[in-house]
Amino acid sequence: MIDLRSDTVTKPTEEMRKAMYTAEVGDDVYGEDPAVRKLEEAAAAILGKEAALFVTSGTQGNQIAVLTHCRPGNEILLESESHIFYYESGAVAALAGVQTRTIAGNRGAMNPADVKAAVRPSDQHFPETGLICIENTHNRAGGAIVSAANMEEIYQIGRENNIPVHVDGARLFNAAAAAGVPVTDFTINCDTVQICLSKGLGAPVGSIIAGSKEFIQTAHKWRKRLGGGLRQAGVIAAPGYIALTKMRTRLAEDHDHAKRLANGLNMINGIEIINQIDTNIVVADVAGLNLTSEAFVEILKQQGILSGSFGPTLVRFTTHFDVTAAEIDQAIETVAKVSKQ
Ligand SMILES: *Cc1c(COP(=O)(O)O)cnc(C)c1O
Repeated sequence: MIDLRSDTVTKPTEEMRKAMYTAEVGDDVYGEDPAVRKLEEAAAAILGKEAALFVTSGTQGNQIAVLTHCRPGNEILLESESHIFYYESGAVAALAGVQTRTIAGNRGAMNPADVKAAVRPSDQHFPETGLICIENTHNRAGGAIVSAANMEEIYQIGRENNIPVHVDGARLFNAAAAAGVPVTDFTINCDTVQICLSKGLGAPVGSIIAGSKEFIQTAHKWRKRLGGGLRQAGVIAAPGYIALTKMRTRLAEDHDHAKRLANGLNMINGIEIINQIDTNIVVADVAGLNLTSEAFVEILKQQGILSGSFGPTLVRFTTHFDVTAAEIDQAIETVAKVSKQ
C-alpha cells in the first residue's frame, strides 16, 4: 500500500522508538517528567515564545487556545474552511461557548480589510470579538502558505483592538521549510500557536501550543479539564522531541514529491490539479473521469494507493516521509492506468 491519505499516517522512526524506550519519565501533572519538559522548552525556543505545553492532539491544542483566550458569548474570527471551523466537530461551540464568524480567504489567507471590518464595535447588542485565528499552512486550501506579511497585517489589527491572534500551525513547519525561513518569521505575528508533531514531523502522538507564560499557565488548567493531563507522558514526548528537532529540515523533500505527483497527475486525461503546490498537499478534481471522489478513492485503493475524498469530485493526496520518489511515480502510473479504464 502507498498511503497518501494524510501525513498523519507516518510511523515512528527507529530513533523515535528507541527514544520512547529510554525516555527518562516522571509524573507530568506534577511537572516532573524530564522528557516532557525538554520537549516543551525546545518547542518554546524554536517557536520564539516564552512557554509551551505538550497536548494530546492538534484539535485539543486549538480548543485549549480558544478556551484560554475567550469567554462564553465571544465571537471568534476565522477563515471559512479553517480546520477549527470545519473539522473539529463543533467543539468551539460545544466547549468554549463561542460563536464563529467566518471570513472567506484567498488560498487560505483572509484579507486584512475583511478581518478589520468584522471586528465588533463596543455596543450592548454585539458579542465581543474574542479571538482571531489564522491557519498556516491552510489544509483545505491545499497546503497553501499564508504569507508572514498577511499575518503581520492581521496581527496589527488584533493589537489595535486588543484581540489576541492564534495560529493553527498544524503544518507551520511546512510553510517555514517551503519559504526557506525560520518558523519565527511567522510566529512573531501571533500571540499563540499550535503545531502538530504527528503530521509531517512524524511523531506518533501529540501537538504543542506556545505563547506567553501567563497563557500557558491558564492553558494547563484547560488541558486538565479536557482530560489531557498525562502522567509518564515522557514516553510520547521523547519521540516528539526528535520529530521537532530532527525532522523539520527534511520537509522540503515532501514538497518536491508533491510537485512531482501534481505534475504527473496533471498529464492524465480527466484529472485536473486544482491547487498551487506550496507544500505537501495535492488536490485533484476527478470530475473529468465522470466519477465521484469516493468511487475514485475506492478504485485506487483496490490498486494499492490510498487517498482521501476532499469534496464531491475532489481527491486529496498528501506526501510524507514514509513515501519515496519511486512510490510517487508508481502512484502516478496507477492513476494513469485506472483513468484509462
Ligand atoms: C490535522 C490538523 C489539525 C488537528 O490535528 P489533530 O492532531 O488531528 O487533532 C488542526 N489543524 C489543521 C490545519 C490540521 O491539518
